[in-house]
Amino acid sequence: MVDLQSQYAKIKDIVDPSIQEVMDNASFINGPSVHEFQKNLENYLGVKHVIPCANGTDALQIAMMGLGLKPGDEVITADFTFAATVEVIALLQLTPVLVDVDPVTFNIDVNAIKKAITPKTKAIVPVHLFGLPADMDAIMELAKEHNLFVIEDNAQAIGASYTHKDGTKTKTGAIGDVASTSFFPSKNLGCYGDGGAIFTNDDDLAHTIRGIVNHGMYKRYHHDVVGVNSRLDSIQAAVLDAKLPHLDTYNKARRTAAKKYNEAFKNHPNIVTPTGLGVNDADDFHVFHQYTLNLKAVDRDALVAHLQSKNIPCGVYYPIPLHRQKAYMDDRYDEADFEVTNALIQSVISLPMHTELEDEQISYITSTILNFIASHK
Ligand SMILES: *Cc1c(COP(=O)(O)O)cnc(C)c1O
Repeated sequence: MVDLQSQYAKIKDIVDPSIQEVMDNASFINGPSVHEFQKNLENYLGVKHVIPCANGTDALQIAMMGLGLKPGDEVITADFTFAATVEVIALLQLTPVLVDVDPVTFNIDVNAIKKAITPKTKAIVPVHLFGLPADMDAIMELAKEHNLFVIEDNAQAIGASYTHKDGTKTKTGAIGDVASTSFFPSKNLGCYGDGGAIFTNDDDLAHTIRGIVNHGMYKRYHHDVVGVNSRLDSIQAAVLDAKLPHLDTYNKARRTAAKKYNEAFKNHPNIVTPTGLGVNDADDFHVFHQYTLNLKAVDRDALVAHLQSKNIPCGVYYPIPLHRQKAYMDDRYDEADFEVTNALIQSVISLPMHTELEDEQISYITSTILNFIASHK
């Protein structure tokens, strides 16, 4: 699904010396690379504060702690996403409220959010799923109206721009009250281990969060709030700082691959290709963390088996809706409210997507899929 080896081979000359520098200085924790990466990422995103931490799941949890959410507060998020989002809501004893997604964008459905708001609702967590920004103008408007926090889960969309109704653009993660991201190796900006970060434009919240990531300390050995230990180590920061200047090129390579996939599947009666590609090279509103097809009247599982037999990796993100996961089932949920997610889990398939995909690989993948569908009518 991803080719991190070929990507590393191309940037080895830049990455290796920056890792070596950390080793030479033995500045493993809070070394200069952490601060440099933080500043460079703030500039890149156009956000006032980046607070690095240990991983994307911690980033979400810390964001919620920073906002002062309390047990019993309801937090609305998408049913069709990776479990990390709902996991931290539950861990903090907040009440997860899962809602359905849009059938075209796969992102959280604003009307479903509207329906789910109660007097206990405190926050909305839109996930920019697969690299496509959620409907942020509508979400921010709704949040303002009901006095709710918006926490963007930007783990899959770093580098994407959201185009507002007035035509201006903002990078995802710089729109809500606070945002989280992950630098897991396969993410669009990945390190060589675990890593994550929290973003915010709010000075007070940034200050609160900087204490929380460091055992609740604002002054050494003075623990003002209950915190956690969540750090981005210096080696990972050095890797990320070396890779950040390549992020736009990487995302462009993903969009180019997506465009070629889309071309091959164009107007096919059984294949709905992803939306949000744009028409110009500069269109950066979908950064294709995943390239996901929605199949119509195709035996998806048979196709998956066929691709595997041809040595073509593929994935099903996500095979089970969160509201039906053992850990998150709840009598509050009504199956009728999850029509879209319940259908998507049976019809989506994600194809190999990374920065090193070659034309030959794309045509092999697409022709194998098209032949399979043609021969299984
Ligand atoms: C990857 C991911 C996370 C978690 O990130 P980790 O760094 O693996 O903890 C959270 N949310 C979404 C949507 C993700 O894709």
